[in-house]
Amino acid sequence: MASLKKKPVFKKSAPKPVVKKELPRKPLTGGQSAQKKENASTAPAAPAKKQIQLLRGMKDILPRDQHYWKAVYEKAQSIAEDFGFDRIDTPVLEDASLFLRGLGKVTDIVEKEMYMFEDRDADKVTLRPENTASIVRAYLQHGMWNQPQPVKLWYWGPMFRHERPQEGRQRQFWQAGFEVLGDPSPVIDAMVIQMTWLLYNEFGVPVTIHINSMGMPDDRTRYKMELVQYYRAHRAEICENCKARLMKNPLRVLDCKEEGCQPVKANAPQIVDYLSNDSRDHFMKVLEYLDELGIPYFLNHTLVRGLDYYTRTVFEVVTSDEEQGSQTALCGGGRYDLLVEELGGKPTPACGVAPGIERLIVQLKKRQLPLPPQRQPQVYVAQLGDLSRRKAMLLFARLRAEGVMADQDFSKGSLKAQLESANAKKIPFAFVIGQKEVQEGTVIMRDMDSGVQETIDFNKAPQILKRKLGIDKSVE
Ligand code: AMP
Repeated sequence: MASLKKKPVFKKSAPKPVVKKELPRKPLTGGQSAQKKENASTAPAAPAKKQIQLLRGMKDILPRDQHYWKAVYEKAQSIAEDFGFDRIDTPVLEDASLFLRGLGKVTDIVEKEMYMFEDRDADKVTLRPENTASIVRAYLQHGMWNQPQPVKLWYWGPMFRHERPQEGRQRQFWQAGFEVLGDPSPVIDAMVIQMTWLLYNEFGVPVTIHINSMGMPDDRTRYKMELVQYYRAHRAEICENCKARLMKNPLRVLDCKEEGCQPVKANAPQIVDYLSNDSRDHFMKVLEYLDELGIPYFLNHTLVRGLDYYTRTVFEVVTSDEEQGSQTALCGGGRYDLLVEELGGKPTPACGVAPGIERLIVQLKKRQLPLPPQRQPQVYVAQLGDLSRRKAMLLFARLRAEGVMADQDFSKGSLKAQLESANAKKIPFAFVIGQKEVQEGTVIMRDMDSGVQETIDFNKAPQILKRKLGIDKSVE
């Protein structure tokens, strides 16, 4: 055991007289250039090192924005917990084949956007472009199919896509996600949509839920044949992109935004007319549940999500962008009944959603929507000199242990500067400890609004303050 040596007690000596340094009388510029010349003759100035900048499409989340992030995180978390979801975190780096197999090779993400590279062991790895495939991997790897079903998981984290950056589109962006595995019931789809709707609705962001059914693979095969036939008959009227899509991934013609293609698209066959009875019943049930909950939706027959794994219900949440007269997609989701099997598990129906965080925050800012109040310090601890600083540090720790949020600038010496800081932050009370208070075992409690001060016992200070703040009703 280390021996405890008694620390010497330093008595504060009388303050030294302040020696004011005379400022140079000469104009600074002349003096500086003379200095520069001198430096130049002795050692040549080293070239300033180039600053390293962010990669394109990447963003820092600065302190000034953190309250938005906290508000959205806490909202997502409370919704997830209220609906009985457990939190899961998976790594950002995964085996590339997880996404090659999971998302489908002929998708924009896999073909153009994935960050895929060989690591130092020559293993092909990917920075996850989305998280559903990783959730399924974790569900299988950790035997979650053995647990009572459905398994309800939620996540929060960064995703990576090498897209062309613009407002609301980055190469690293964040998503929350709610995923339900092991239950085929349409009530699950409705619940996931309800949770998503609550996320926007409770912040006051006006949104529309676009919804469609993509059926099961058999339904889709029948529909694709009809769609291709129809588009071929209108070949002369469609863009080159649509022609290419007809060959590679016909459903994507329905995503086309080219003006010239819109009349053809408007009259195209609709997938709902090709659904099997089971798929149709499933879809009708989802809509009935949403009607019951009073959640408004828009049946969008051209909504086909860009990933292969979707089956049956698909949906997107959009908000109208008044400035640009356009619509912004805030989030997308749907059912993926075949993905677990595709990734090596037993047939396991599933459904989920992934709201994009940056796009929600853009809406909160643009619409100046109120956020929940942030925690505010309730007292400022001010000190004068080293001895009182030690006591102030102790008081700060005691306040924290008592659940009182305090603020301080212990590196500052001037009482005026400290009280100004407390005032600027609108902190209602200040504790002031000077030499006299240290000797007497007291502290000054100052009401920052009225300026009224009283001297109280150092050891009782947290309790007395708590009573003043109305957070401790116990009798002293
Ligand atoms: P997705 O996984 O493509 O369905 O995207 C779901 C949501 O994630 C979108 O609606 C956006 O809110 C968000 N998102 C997708 N890609 C990006 C991106 N490159 N930058 C910012 N947010 C994105």
